[in-house]
Amino acid sequence: MDIMFKSTRGDKNYVTASQAIVKGIADDGGLYVPETIPAIDFNLEDITGYSYQELAYQVLKLILTDYTEEELRYCINSAYDEKFDTPKIAPVVSPNSKDNFLELFHGKTIAFKDMALSILPYLLKTAAKKNGVHEEIVILTATSGDTGKAALEGFADVEGTQIIVFYPVEGVSDVQKMQMVTQKGANTCVAAIKGNFDDAQTSVKQIFTDNQLKAELKENGYVFSSANSINIGRLAPQIVYYFYAYAQMVNAGKINMGDKINFTVPTGNFGDILAGYYAKHMGLPVNKLICASNDNKVLYDFFETGSYDVNREFILTVSPSMDILISSNLERFLYHLCNSTEKVAEVMGNLSSAGKYEFKTNDEITGEYATMAETFKSIKDLFDKDGYVMDTHTAVAKASYDKYVAQTGDNTPNVIVSTASPYKFAKDVLKAIDVKYDGINPFEALDELERISTISIPAPIKGINTREVLHNTVIDRSELKSFVQNKLK
Ligand SMILES: *Cc1c(COP(=O)(O)O)cnc(C)c1O
Repeated sequence: MDIMFKSTRGDKNYVTASQAIVKGIADDGGLYVPETIPAIDFNLEDITGYSYQELAYQVLKLILTDYTEEELRYCINSAYDEKFDTPKIAPVVSPNSKDNFLELFHGKTIAFKDMALSILPYLLKTAAKKNGVHEEIVILTATSGDTGKAALEGFADVEGTQIIVFYPVEGVSDVQKMQMVTQKGANTCVAAIKGNFDDAQTSVKQIFTDNQLKAELKENGYVFSSANSINIGRLAPQIVYYFYAYAQMVNAGKINMGDKINFTVPTGNFGDILAGYYAKHMGLPVNKLICASNDNKVLYDFFETGSYDVNREFILTVSPSMDILISSNLERFLYHLCNSTEKVAEVMGNLSSAGKYEFKTNDEITGEYATMAETFKSIKDLFDKDGYVMDTHTAVAKASYDKYVAQTGDNTPNVIVSTASPYKFAKDVLKAIDVKYDGINPFEALDELERISTISIPAPIKGINTREVLHNTVIDRSELKSFVQNKLK
């Protein structure tokens, strides 16, 4: 029996996994969720011997049930190959007896978005074929910095697709920006939006629910899909690495099979941590999920008070991929908690009209946050003590985790989900390590970080500042729709 997906907001059209992946978002603006979260049908004991690819198959087959084994294995093997700089794909690294980092930055764009965006193009192409979609698929993506590049890499020159990425002028790192504006590929398009990430994401979501525009473009031979974590094809592949981290913790003798563990996840759009929640409900022994925020601590306040309120200043931090006030995937979590599409539609209505809502959560997820000063201190302390360099996002999680332990005394073994290579944010990482680096040129920072750390500059960003800039459009938020229309005439 296929698992069917439905909108969190009550649209009555149930779709298969492959249809949900093609559509990206439901017609009523809701997000697709599985009717029920499937339980694992393999023995947990067995995963300690699985490769990443095998584990991916075992997990994905439970959720993406309308894909055949052959299709899934093709997608998995095409995604998780030498594009990653380690055959482990997602290694757990433990610089001391207490800290365990699940490094999700060994892919082509050196951030965790590669985990899902390496496979999404294959899942999508396969889905289009299965469902007889003949139009060209246009991937529209708003990015806080990392999704954009990972999606561009994933979709560049993929036949039958075009990709358009919007990034906020305010608030992506220099390396992130260079990665995007130098992107090659005849089907790629990158534009900067005046505003912040929420502005970009909201404008893109509006396009997805603009039925007139969709009809017009269908005439021209195009359909939209999304590479953002609102797409279930992003979420499902992320579940895999929670199981994989657990297996590595067992293999390293840090836990016994069956023991519960905690995960601390640096959170923005709530997609990464939501995959951890799915893993838990599929049967992974998880005690707590600790949701770490930066100074934009809407989620922390929400988990503390039950009140989600975006009426506050948007703060540009040193962890730009987490500078988000409207965390899209929280909607899915709310749905799973209350099981009521009416309730979700109501609170999402309140969010768009008043910028806030009330909702009672349970204690499966705990919120924590770290200020910029705490984040910097965390990078420095761990580097001085153990020589391990964290990027600024991972450091938000590490600082949050340390605060959580200090407050609760919870000594359950913990895995910190490490979402980016320190090289992606080298300038701020160096500044954290020593004030003498304040003001260093972002590209010189790469060489300097290589000099003081034990890891070399990752190949994907070596010499990035000398590459040719191919995309330099900057548009107003209000021009987004006409920009897309012009592009797809
Ligand atoms: C996207 C991103 C995050 C946040 O992940 P979400 O799934 O949006 O919560 C954290 N760190 C880095 C480096 C990212 O790129």
